Amino acid sequence: MSETKYIFVTGGNLSGLGKGLAAASMGRLLKSRGLSVSILKVDPYINVDAGTMSPYQHGEVFVTKDGAETDLDLGHYERFIDIDLTEKSNITTGQVYHAVIDKERKGSYLGATVQVIPHITNEIKDRIHGLSIQNEERPDVVIVEIGGTVGDIESLPFLEAIRQFRMDQPRGHVLNIHLTFLPLVSTTKELKTKLTQHAVRALREIGIQPDILLCRSTQEMNDDVKKKIALFCNVPIDSIFSDVDVDNIYFIPLVFEEIGVGSKLVELLNLECGPPDLSDWIGMVDAIKNPEAKIKIALVGKYAILRDAYISVIEALIHGGIANRITVEVDCILSENLEDNENWSDILAGYSGIVIPGGFGDRGIKGKILACQFAREQKVPFLGLCLGLQVATVEYARNVIGIKNANSTEFDEVAPEPIIDLMPDQKKITRKGGTMRLGHYPCNIKPGTNAHEAYGVDVVNERHRHRLEINNKYRDQLEKAGMIMCGVSPDDLLVEMVELKDHPWHVSTQFHPEFQSRPQRAHPLFREFIKASLEYHKRVEDLLPGKVKEKVPEVS
Ligand code: GLN
Repeated sequence: MSETKYIFVTGGNLSGLGKGLAAASMGRLLKSRGLSVSILKVDPYINVDAGTMSPYQHGEVFVTKDGAETDLDLGHYERFIDIDLTEKSNITTGQVYHAVIDKERKGSYLGATVQVIPHITNEIKDRIHGLSIQNEERPDVVIVEIGGTVGDIESLPFLEAIRQFRMDQPRGHVLNIHLTFLPLVSTTKELKTKLTQHAVRALREIGIQPDILLCRSTQEMNDDVKKKIALFCNVPIDSIFSDVDVDNIYFIPLVFEEIGVGSKLVELLNLECGPPDLSDWIGMVDAIKNPEAKIKIALVGKYAILRDAYISVIEALIHGGIANRITVEVDCILSENLEDNENWSDILAGYSGIVIPGGFGDRGIKGKILACQFAREQKVPFLGLCLGLQVATVEYARNVIGIKNANSTEFDEVAPEPIIDLMPDQKKITRKGGTMRLGHYPCNIKPGTNAHEAYGVDVVNERHRHRLEINNKYRDQLEKAGMIMCGVSPDDLLVEMVELKDHPWHVSTQFHPEFQSRPQRAHPLFREFIKASLEYHKRVEDLLPGKVKEKVPEVS
């Protein structure tokens, strides 16, 4: 078995340049050569994990199958490389200090003065090594993305650790890739290299010489620009690549392959592998580029002004589109905007499907309930995810069964009719952070339902992140009124999925199917939801020509 090689990806100049997507794309290129790849994100914040952070600040919390609450970049990694990651794939400053202080209290350092170097840096290196041993099989390549920008105080211990890491490894086993920004001066149409020069200088000051530069810009650099960067940054010209803007994130691996990033990684790490086989990826990109139709989906949520807060849901909807060879456009609608607004139904009219994603707290709930009612009454395809299931159930109890005070105890602790209530084992928990029902749990699916038709199997494992559930006391009543409990835990104590009898496609899940969707393999529920939405779209167009077109431009 060959030894694991390492790729460290750092970023200069500014955040938001797409380091995560670049790292994920390189992972895909290596995997397409038959190599096994694992990947890790370092987040230099003090939070132990992303679970306690507001989606407004860091976007969605991505949940791994083993229940870790992680950075959204892990979602990109899973979708691009098509692997399931674990809690080992997200390291934070909080975790590292927590572990070191814990060891100090146990006396593990034998009286030493505990310091950033070597104790914190050793802990970081150990965690990176920890990823090389997975299922007793060593991955051929481990990619490590360092979050933040070189020059931030927070990332210094991590950069020092990766500087040392290279020294500890045999020559040629470690690559440092730096992502920088090349601004285009609009008047002269010139790409300026100075920012990149400064970004590389900042990295070299802490002892790291990059092997490869990825320069993010709106257009390709010409050879003169590359020569200048090569000279000032001490990087060979053939290791400097343009990372240009693309229309769709799934094009990035193919663009990288075309400009030679994949073969450069293989050459510099001396990897033993065959030529890349990207045929499946190319097929998927072909479906994106040649859609047969286009539909619009409304995603009604509380954090709708930040699309990153729902990134996995949006991507999974797009995957559903790819599987049906159509373009899916997702409009994020702030649920509060539907509240106390007499034209609320106009906002939702014309969409081919409605999604209520996960969430916490009571802000915007009234608007979500209206959206559920609209989808149910107008027979618009509906997908409720986690909080979406809970809200759809409250809506059904109130408006179909007639339990006017039906509510969730999350919104009203003393709700007289607690249709949605805390799970029994959550009642005693007061600490936040890693205390919800998290990760994979099995769900039995009822045959003869839309959910069963989508999955095509009797049992599935799906990822969870919740504290509340449908109150079992109301199950019979809901079922009698036409809400089918189409997915339940194997002990039958927890409702995992519901769907409506008198509706073409109205399915809700207590879990988060979006985390398991992949561009080449849309999650079955998203695939079928989009299929139902396309059928609805066609039906409305036939009955009321122009009705959906108000929101849906002609297919180009
Ligand atoms: N707030 C709800 C709960 O804790 C839903 C959680 C979610 O949507 N992820 O059960």
